[in-house]
Amino acid sequence: MSATTPLSLLGKVALITGASSGIGAATSVLFAKLGAKLVLNGRQVENLEKTGKDCEKHGSKPLIVPGDVTNEADNVALIQKAVEHFGQLDILVNNAGILSLGTIETTSLKDFDHMMNTNVRSVFHLTSLAVPHLTKTQGNIVNVSSVNGLRSFPGVLAYCVSKSAVDQMTHCVALEMAPKKVRVNCVNPGVIVTELQKRGGLNEEAYAAFLEKSKTTHALGRAGEADEVANAIAFLASDSASFITGVTLPVDGGRHAMCPR
Ligand code: NDP
Repeated sequence: MSATTPLSLLGKVALITGASSGIGAATSVLFAKLGAKLVLNGRQVENLEKTGKDCEKHGSKPLIVPGDVTNEADNVALIQKAVEHFGQLDILVNNAGILSLGTIETTSLKDFDHMMNTNVRSVFHLTSLAVPHLTKTQGNIVNVSSVNGLRSFPGVLAYCVSKSAVDQMTHCVALEMAPKKVRVNCVNPGVIVTELQKRGGLNEEAYAAFLEKSKTTHALGRAGEADEVANAIAFLASDSASFITGVTLPVDGGRHAMCPR
């Protein structure tokens, strides 16, 4: 590969969870533009189909497999259908995730379990199901973690714990799969304008204030856009990142490097 080869995912079969919204939807469309064959997962079928149509505009007709990543049978069917349909799997993007607000004093065990089931257990399960197929293709995995995995913030305890677990899973699986030439990386976004925070409990007013505050909590002076994370995911998933494995890549306008002063 020459150093000037442009980014391409031509012919790669990529499965993206949480493709029905935000970062997952933006990543799906970018992957379509870069020539990937796509398997799209999420729970809200109408939104998934919208992402699918946006991908089709770039010449890639995705296989849409609705499902809940906390459901074991759904995950088994998702990987099976992907491989049956396209004959192989090259890239897994573990993007589906939730945020919830809560401290050690206010987070119930049920809330904690729900967070861990959605953000961590699903990543473990889908990764274990995908690994035999990725081994065959010498493929790769990109996990979507968060700056909250790298740094600690009060008031989002379960979320921070879940994303630290995703970071550690990225490191460990990268080392375990390296002898088989399967790369495993993650991106750690800062605040990105999507539905996540509103679905996690912020009303419109609180969300507007949160975005305003993001101008001071991110060194670059703003929140990020889903496309900016999609670009980093596409790079890590592509052969342009052929010598990169086990990284946690902040896509956060410098937030991870900031300290109070
Ligand atoms: P959105 O809420 O816009 O999208 C979340 C996606 O995850 C949706 O497609 C949703 O699908 C899917 N999802 C959630 N739970 C499940 C489930 N149980 N089964 C299947 N799909 C599920 O948020 P983002 O795009 O922002 O979030 C994507 C990832 O980015 C998450 O892992 C999040 O933690 C991470 N992230 C986001 C940041 C941000 O500021 N936005 C910052 C750092 C990390 P559906 O709607 O169909 O249920």
